[in-house]
Amino acid sequence: MKITHQCSERALTAVFKPPASHRHWIRLSLLMMLAGCASVAEHEAGGVPSRAGASAESALGNVVASPYLAESLPLQLMICKTQVSNPPANERRRVLRRSALGCLNGVSVLVAPAPGACLTSGYGPRPRLHKGVDYQSRPASAVVAAAAGTVVEFGFRQQDFGHWIVIDHGSGVYTGYAHLDRTEPGLAKGVRVTRGQPLGIMGKTGNSTSSVHLHYEIRRGNLATARSWFRLDPVDPFALPGRCEVDA
Ligand SMILES: [Zn+2]
Repeated sequence: MKITHQCSERALTAVFKPPASHRHWIRLSLLMMLAGCASVAEHEAGGVPSRAGASAESALGNVVASPYLAESLPLQLMICKTQVSNPPANERRRVLRRSALGCLNGVSVLVAPAPGACLTSGYGPRPRLHKGVDYQSRPASAVVAAAAGTVVEFGFRQQDFGHWIVIDHGSGVYTGYAHLDRTEPGLAKGVRVTRGQPLGIMGKTGNSTSSVHLHYEIRRGNLATARSWFRLDPVDPFALPGRCEVDA
């Protein structure tokens, strides 16, 4: 069983110097991280995680740590050491957001649904518009659902996305996950998923010309009437405000 990097994130948080108004919130986050580490250790020992449903074990062998799924955590995303196109505003190759979530049409979605991965490409021209963001990790990491919803596309697209999943989160919000190497057993069109639920492992299936990564897209619109993913409006995950419950 593989344990993710959640405990090492404490060190990153210690480096991050939030403004005074955020200190209480950061303290809470630290407490939650500590609780989460304990929870995973307990899980490893055969115990029951202290927060039911907060950690998710993948049938493909990945454990997505509960701290990552805690809604109030900040995002501390590393930008990969490789050349990165369209990096979002960052501080010494770290993207620090008050929340790991972004709010779109009242739906809170994870902006980086690949625990432990770094960013290899942001949203924007390269020179053609890159309508998503790319995440990479070695070894390849789990890809998780960005928010609760229903799987509305599930299949293989050799011409572009390879193993490809689209989740409908309601309110005209959709997320798409491309180039997956493998998908979790039991997933299919029509299946309901929860935020943080493992979907598969990142890969390079389809027309991916680069190495193993996740191409992640957030789109808005109405897939039923648009009848094509490509006719929905792409959204820059890093342009979204934080989770809806906080920023509403
Ligand atoms: Zn991409």
